[in-house]
Order: sequence, then C-alpha cells, then structure tokens
Amino acid sequence: MEVLASLLSGLPVAAVLVGPDARIVAANRAAREMLGQAIEGRHFLTAMRQPDLRAAIEATAADDIPRSITYQTAQDGRDSTFRAHVAGVAVTVDARARGVLVSFEDLTEREQAAQMRRDFVANVSHELRTPLTALMGFIETLQGPARRDEAAIDRFLTIMAREAARMERLVRDLLSLSRVEGEERVRPRDPVDLAGVIGTVVTMLRPLARERGCALRFAPTEACLVPGNADQLQQVFTNLVENAIKYGGADNRVEITLAPHPDDVTLRGPAIAVTVRDRGPGIDPLHIPRLTERFYRVDTHRSREMGGTGLGLAIVKHIVNRHRGRLRIASEPGEGSNFSVILPRWDG
Ligand code: ADP
Repeated sequence: MEVLASLLSGLPVAAVLVGPDARIVAANRAAREMLGQAIEGRHFLTAMRQPDLRAAIEATAADDIPRSITYQTAQDGRDSTFRAHVAGVAVTVDARARGVLVSFEDLTEREQAAQMRRDFVANVSHELRTPLTALMGFIETLQGPARRDEAAIDRFLTIMAREAARMERLVRDLLSLSRVEGEERVRPRDPVDLAGVIGTVVTMLRPLARERGCALRFAPTEACLVPGNADQLQQVFTNLVENAIKYGGADNRVEITLAPHPDDVTLRGPAIAVTVRDRGPGIDPLHIPRLTERFYRVDTHRSREMGGTGLGLAIVKHIVNRHRGRLRIASEPGEGSNFSVILPRWDG
C-alpha cells in the first residue's frame, strides 16, 4: 500500500484510491486537505458524500467503466466546482484486486473567470447599446417627423454628437484596458519625472477645472524620478484629477501633492506618493473596495451625466500594478476623497 500512497503523492491533483471493500486505501495530501486528514482506512462514503460522486464510484466499482462528473460544493463558506474522474484500477501487483481511483480537478477559478467574462460582455453590450439606441431613435426622427424642422435638427444633432462621443470614449477605454492588462507582467523601466507628468496633467485639465468652478492646486517640486511609462502615468493622473474635478461638487478645491512615502515597507524600498485630494461629498466606505472594478460606479446616472465610462479606475489600478505600485483610496463622507498612488523611486 505504501507504493500506492507514493504514486498518489506524485500526482498534481487531489486523488483517492478506494479498495475492493469500499474503504479508502490511500489518499494524497491534496485529497486529505480537501476531504479530511484521517480518511485512510475509512469507508469512502464518510469522505465523499456528494450523491453524484457516490453514484459514479459505485457504478465504476461494479462495471469498471471510467466516468467523469462535475459537482458543486460549499467549502469553507465559498462555492467550489470540482470535476471528479473515476476510473477502475488494479490495487495489487497481480492485478486480481481492483479498486477505484478518484481524482479531482478544481474548476472553481476557471468557472469564476468564465463568469467574469460573461458579466463583462453583458456590461459592455449594455453600455454600448444605450447610446446606440438613442442614436437610432434620433436618426429615425430626423428621417421622418423632424425632417424639415430646423430647430429640432440642430437640437438632435447636438445630442447625437454627445452620444457618439460617449461610444467613442467607451471603445477607447476598452482598448486601453485590454492593452494594460496584456502588458501587466512587463514592468516599465524608463526614468520618468513624476513632477513633469503631473505638471502636464494640471495644465491640460485647468480649462475643465475653470469651467466647473474648481480651484486646482499643485505646487511644482523638483524633478522626481520613477521607473515607468510616461504616457501611462499621465493617464493615471489624468483619470484621478478629472474624477476629483468631476465628483468634487460645487466650491471644490483639488490639491495634488507629491512627497516621499514614509512607509517604505510596502514597496520594500524608497517610494514616492502622489495624492489627489478633493473636498467633494466623499465616498461611502462601503463602495471603496469595489471602485476599481470595471463598470462599478457609486451613482451610475451621475457618472453617465459626467461622461464617465466606469472604466477609469480599473485602468488606473492595472497601470499602477504594472508599475509595482499601490493605489490607496481614503474618504470620509462629507469630507472629500484622497486617492494616493505610491510608486517605487528610481534607483538607477
Ligand atoms: P467613471 O467613468 O464613472 O468616472 P471611474 O472608474 O473613474 O469611472 O470611477 C468609478 C466611480 O468611482 C465613479 O463613478 C464615482 O462614483 C466614484 N469616484 C471616483 N472618483 C471619485 C471622487 N474623487 N469622489 C467621489 N466619487 C468618486
């Protein structure tokens, strides 16, 4: 039996061998972690109670035909999906005694990824369909009842341009997200001056801030180098500063600071923190952990009204990860929000 146990220990998946007397002859470590530590010697039913699994083991023990079944369990409070492969095998050298080998594939992560893909496609379709439906409606009206109504034509074309721009932004953000996700493993290593990048972002967003009555403050500092990709870092701070202006409400003040990060432990080396702070209504702590999920918004209607795609912070998170940095979000409802990006300093 030690030979059998040794064979099972070499398998990359959880595996259990059930003998001709329906008792568990051997189980590898992964199987013991999954089904219980002291299962060897016990009847297989004490460890594998799932009805389909039990039926498959009994059927294969009787007819020696291999079977595979998929089943769900709730383990440690989370739903898991397994595929069990059940096969008749010899359990003695002379092959007279036959048993059943049960091996388990954990499909949970694959299932979750598939579900995420389905949700993502459903979300993208919905986001694209909303402006598309509006555009088709206006095209129909312009071809029919409003054909000669100059005032209506003007008004409708303005709305149509806005809806088309929304679709264009969504497609641009989707492409951007897919690009940064694809590159996430490759760390960018060019020296980039963060102070310069933020200066450019501030110059570009000043007109928007002025339009919204928002005071935008950044005290230029001396050059501060990080290993990175300048375009992507510009995208990060454009998104954060634009959000602070958009969601900051009336009489808003947005302040950007750049300073050495005191807690160097997180990144295991000297780091630099850029904080974008607004004085808006803030974010309920309930939402904070989910803000970087694709299409997650606190208030969908308000985000749409502001021209948001719901992808900005997801893009920020991936770019920051690619730079081996951290994104920290802190907010007190009524006190505004702080979005900090902590990046390792250039050490070359
Ligand atoms: P959006 O395109 O909707 O702005 P983001 O991914 O950039 O998408 O942001 C996700 C959500 O996070 C926003 O819809 C908004 O609800 C919230 N949010 C982001 N930044 C701020 C901020 N500075 N203050 C309050 N809420 C914010």
